[in-house]
Amino acid sequence: MTMEKKIEHFDVIIIGGGAAGLTAGIYCGRARLKTLLIEKSLMGGLATYTSEIENYPGFPEGSSGTELMELFHKQAKKFGVTFKGTAVQSVDLTGEEKIVETFRNRYIAKAVIITTGGKPRLTGALNEDIFLYDKGISFCATCDAAANTDKTVMVVGSGDSAIEEGIFLTKFAKKVIISVMHDEGIMDCNEIAKAQAMANPKMEFIWNSTVHSYEGADHLERVILKNTKTQELQSINIDSCFLFIGYLPNTELFQNQVALTSRSNIIVNERMETNLPGVFAAGDVCEKFLKQVATAVGDGAIAGYACEKYLAEGEIFEQQILNEGKKSLVYLYNGSDAVAREKITLVEDFGAKHPDMRVTCVDIYKSDGLARRLAVKDIPSVVYLNNSEIKTVLSDISANTLSTISLS
Ligand code: FAD
Repeated sequence: MTMEKKIEHFDVIIIGGGAAGLTAGIYCGRARLKTLLIEKSLMGGLATYTSEIENYPGFPEGSSGTELMELFHKQAKKFGVTFKGTAVQSVDLTGEEKIVETFRNRYIAKAVIITTGGKPRLTGALNEDIFLYDKGISFCATCDAAANTDKTVMVVGSGDSAIEEGIFLTKFAKKVIISVMHDEGIMDCNEIAKAQAMANPKMEFIWNSTVHSYEGADHLERVILKNTKTQELQSINIDSCFLFIGYLPNTELFQNQVALTSRSNIIVNERMETNLPGVFAAGDVCEKFLKQVATAVGDGAIAGYACEKYLAEGEIFEQQILNEGKKSLVYLYNGSDAVAREKITLVEDFGAKHPDMRVTCVDIYKSDGLARRLAVKDIPSVVYLNNSEIKTVLSDISANTLSTISLS
């Protein structure tokens, strides 16, 4: 017997409760949108795994990830966001109504913000889970380099991030040992990074090696490497081990719906819009240059704001522009264009002569969402609709050209 799922409606659903999701929640909640945030494990996301965040502005003494994220959560709660602690199991984001399903519920919303973050790829070696994050295995040189000042660290990997982050670590650590699985001299990174790394006196390479196991008491003390050719084991004393062998975004749920890069990150534009109308993404799940709390916050703010604009525009489109199938005239102009501004009177005068027609003037300066919904690229333009269909688009706007519009 299949269980009937309980159906609930929201304006917007945010999937993932990390820095990006909680910030999007603050913006949506504050804009009085009926907002649901679904988080499957720890509220606060990946940042809660780090004991010290020193580079998030506004906290000169630093803050623990958990404390910082608690503040984010508190602020989102204050603005009336509803929280559910469960995993999203499936989505259908392609239609106008967005469907998000958990084990028990089916949630329906007008918009969705995806903030599911990602996870660093692991080596799978023995004892790895014991030393993750604060116990010596790190995935973030920017975050943990300072704590390794004058220490010996290992970097696993030879791609661009491994080598570039390894070079960055040499500014702090006294020695950076790179474990590379390839033959001597072969690396996956670009040639410039390779040349810089090979010339760096603080860097040392162990070729043909993979991690066999991690050892230590409370904190990681040794990495046991295995030679892939001779199978010989080699124990190396280190203070921290940085894994840069890939990052896996949590996008399995969205495949075949939302456009992804070849590395499975979500493709967004500067408004955090995905390829699907009404679907936004923010934070580490996106294709982006820097994955940090500060940038996740920036993304989340944009996504929340863009989502609010999208919903407000949707209402104007439905209620005003489609005008229940009756006659409707829309003037799309850019408020920063003085000539286009002057033509508002012209359009309004024309409208006044036809009282059965509704006139809407739309300044696209802040958001061109309505122009996009009407598929109009030339600005300024006048669009005439009847029976909810576009009948005429006019970009040469004068009293004369307006009078040529056939108002049937
Ligand atoms: P995340 O924080 O990853 O949040 C995504 C959330 O989505 C998770 O909570 C996850 O459980 C949830 N989720 C995923 N799938 C589902 C689903 N199907 N249903 C429901 N929920 C789901 N950055 C800094 O700025 N400074 C630092 O010092 C720093 N230190 C770091 C230390 C470590 C050890 C690590 C790993 C990262 C560190 N970072 C640091 C990076 C920072 O943590 C991330 O950039 C930031 O957390 C990204 O936020 P996010 O909201 O995009 O994703």
